[in-house]
Amino acid sequence: MSVVYFVVPCYNEEQVLPETVKRLTEKINELVAGGLASEKSRVLFVDDGSKDKTWELIEKYSAESKYIGGVKLSRNRGHQNALLAGLMTAKGKCDCAISLDADLQDDIGVLDQFVKKYQEGCEVVYGVRSSRDKDTAFKRGTAQGYYKFMAMLGVEIVYNHADYRLLGSRALEALSEYREVNLFLRGIVPLIGFRSDYVYYERSERFAGESKYPLSKMLKFAVDGITSFSVKPLKIISNLGIIICLLSVIFFVYALILFFSGSSVAGWASIMCSIWFLGGLQMLCIGIVGTYVGKIYSESKHRPRFIIDKTIIRK
Ligand code: UDP
Ligand code: MG
Repeated sequence: MSVVYFVVPCYNEEQVLPETVKRLTEKINELVAGGLASEKSRVLFVDDGSKDKTWELIEKYSAESKYIGGVKLSRNRGHQNALLAGLMTAKGKCDCAISLDADLQDDIGVLDQFVKKYQEGCEVVYGVRSSRDKDTAFKRGTAQGYYKFMAMLGVEIVYNHADYRLLGSRALEALSEYREVNLFLRGIVPLIGFRSDYVYYERSERFAGESKYPLSKMLKFAVDGITSFSVKPLKIISNLGIIICLLSVIFFVYALILFFSGSSVAGWASIMCSIWFLGGLQMLCIGIVGTYVGKIYSESKHRPRFIIDKTIIRK
């Protein structure tokens, strides 16, 4: 029987936590009774530096049930880092770890399927949303556009898959070899390889509380995803440079013809236009290059990606 760890990052989730604990405990009991999971299975809540009573609740529930455990980060490090902290804590203690959100948006009903696929030999199982009906038109449009854009840039990510996934112990071991600071797990996991499969599920609405991912964080996440995995923007810059050089040659020829035909008047407008256009373009290009330089900078510091304050896992 497999030891299954559920890794649940939580940031200010006191409103949903009681229900999440209840449902996951029920689920673990069901899995254990059904012979799918061993009694050593655990739910590992990662408190990502919450400002509310999240950690107190985790402590309380872990005292009540042996299945509940917790990791408290020293401060808020963001969803991806919190998730990694949980997965790395689970590594070595479990046969497989399943990551899911605290707000019960990821359908707990399909957890059996994840475990079954693992037992059939899959090392990675991706939870894929079967539809996006519950999203706002804006979120749906931007998310799907983003997946397509990433595919265009040559980044391998699973369409409509977020962070609801199972990783076997070997995948966890492999994941620990990735040392990057700008974490984008859904880009890293496909790079790991191993046999993988999909589980389809309906994503519901947040059970309680509000989203901890405002638009600003989402945009940062999206940009991270691109700049951590694709150097195509750099190539686009060079291509753009070549095209503009060619255009300027044509323009130069055109200007020469006008000059020799005697009809050239000092072209104030065209000069102004080109100055502004080139100025803007150069700034854009420098900006993109700067993004990569910024990454080199942060990666070269090799800062720890998380620091664990406390851990509770009962034997
Ligand atoms: N989360 C976290 N740290 C953060 C922000 C979010 O651990 O800084 C957790 C949060 O508690 C939840 C998950 O990440 O379990 C997904 O966040 P949320 O549901 O707010 O995002 P959404 O579903 O709205 O995209
Ligand atoms: Mg959510």
